[in-house]
Amino acid sequence: MTQPPADAATMEKIVALCKRRGFIFASSEIYGGLGSTYDYGHYGVLLKTNVKNEWWRAMLQERDDIVALDSAILQHPRVWEASGHLAGFTDPMVDCRACKKRFRADHLDREEMCPAKASLPKTDDRRHELTEARDFNLMFKTFVGPMEESASVAYLRPETAQGIFINFKNVLQFSRKKPPFGIAQVGKSFRNEITPGNFVFRTREFEQMEMEFFVPPDEAPQWYDHWKQQRLHWYVDLGLREDHLRMREHELDELSHYSSATADVEYLFPIGWSELEGVANRGNFDLTQHAEYSGEKLEYFDPQSKERYVPHVIEPAAGADRATLAFLVDAYDEDDLGGEQRTVLKLHPRLAPVKVAVLPLVRKDGQPEVAGEIVAALRTRMQTEYDEGGSIGKRYRRQDEIGTPFCVTVDHQTLQDRTVTLRDRDTLEQERLAIDGLVEVLVERLAREWRSPKVAAEA
Ligand code: ATP
Repeated sequence: MTQPPADAATMEKIVALCKRRGFIFASSEIYGGLGSTYDYGHYGVLLKTNVKNEWWRAMLQERDDIVALDSAILQHPRVWEASGHLAGFTDPMVDCRACKKRFRADHLDREEMCPAKASLPKTDDRRHELTEARDFNLMFKTFVGPMEESASVAYLRPETAQGIFINFKNVLQFSRKKPPFGIAQVGKSFRNEITPGNFVFRTREFEQMEMEFFVPPDEAPQWYDHWKQQRLHWYVDLGLREDHLRMREHELDELSHYSSATADVEYLFPIGWSELEGVANRGNFDLTQHAEYSGEKLEYFDPQSKERYVPHVIEPAAGADRATLAFLVDAYDEDDLGGEQRTVLKLHPRLAPVKVAVLPLVRKDGQPEVAGEIVAALRTRMQTEYDEGGSIGKRYRRQDEIGTPFCVTVDHQTLQDRTVTLRDRDTLEQERLAIDGLVEVLVERLAREWRSPKVAAEA
């Protein structure tokens, strides 16, 4: 495994910041927690919503060949037979006889082996302690209705993709689209992961952002290349450092049975290079399977060529939580401000949970009232926060830690000439601006081209 570089962001620091500033908490904490499940607090919700909105923007707003879908989490059990999840959605696992820990057999080289027994030799010998690999089905099983019997078994979906395939016919009929076109969906998925961990990187309940792009079979290779490139660019455009991103093409023996090509967008997390998103050429596997299991024809008839075919599918499948974690890790920085340390999230302004904070210097002399007036004007256009508690320095630090790109400060002079200071999170420059026109200035700055300060510093 490639070692992560010496970077300010460690997973411990990210977890601590997320808790301190109300982004992400361990779930069920008052009951002692439920391993590897997390709740998103105020800023976490705003950040993850922005990540998902950016994904929707790239899929829907900036193109006209993709439509949206929101399918149910509970689906007919036959869906999972047809997709192969019931028979094959398993991770081979091994147990360590010494420390009783369980590991994914295909991730052995990435695991910190046997942490309970540091004395265990960290050579190949350690493998002699492991059991044979066994399979575990990763789907959560439940029952629909009052009877807990096999006829009422249902599964929580382990991916959003199948909800798209089973709606292929509906969408084809009602959207007036023809291949090449895509169906996009964002939603919760559930996997009974045996080795969850690394904060929200791998959890049992998570959100996916998946898009199935249906194409004429002979166009599949070119669309596969197109989507690999698009998806890598999406992360770069939103500020991730390019040298912390890479596209890794799967080896032949890594490919799923249905896939003729798959590549992972990988990010250099503090735990090393890890998958952020997968882009797969799924061929016609899914539509063919569902056609066979359901008896419905799932194909496209081209009225011009009079040709009937089962489209091939290119799938970019991303994780909203994993992407959020990558953006947090990449944005995290510790600056030295003339001897004073500050922690700052240099998030892309489009992702920042709060775009602007309005801060009266003191809580008197009419300053809170003017600040309130500014907040009322700003909040019609952007996520705005008002804060009057504590010293101004402390309030700036707080906004830095949640990644707010701009702070507007109301002071004594404001009452005389209706000007305020505008502080930039990244450059720390402060400028004096009139209250009139402030909304337009901020709208314009937020829409500007933005380059990650870390990228700029490395250039
Ligand atoms: P991994 O190899 O990490 O288990 P995968 O190849 O099984 O991932 P996919 O089925 O391709 O993942 O899912 C697409 C995306 O969904 C992943 O790239 C990841 O961002 C996200 N994802 C998958 N499993 C989890 C999980 N347990 N927790 C958080 N995100 C996940």
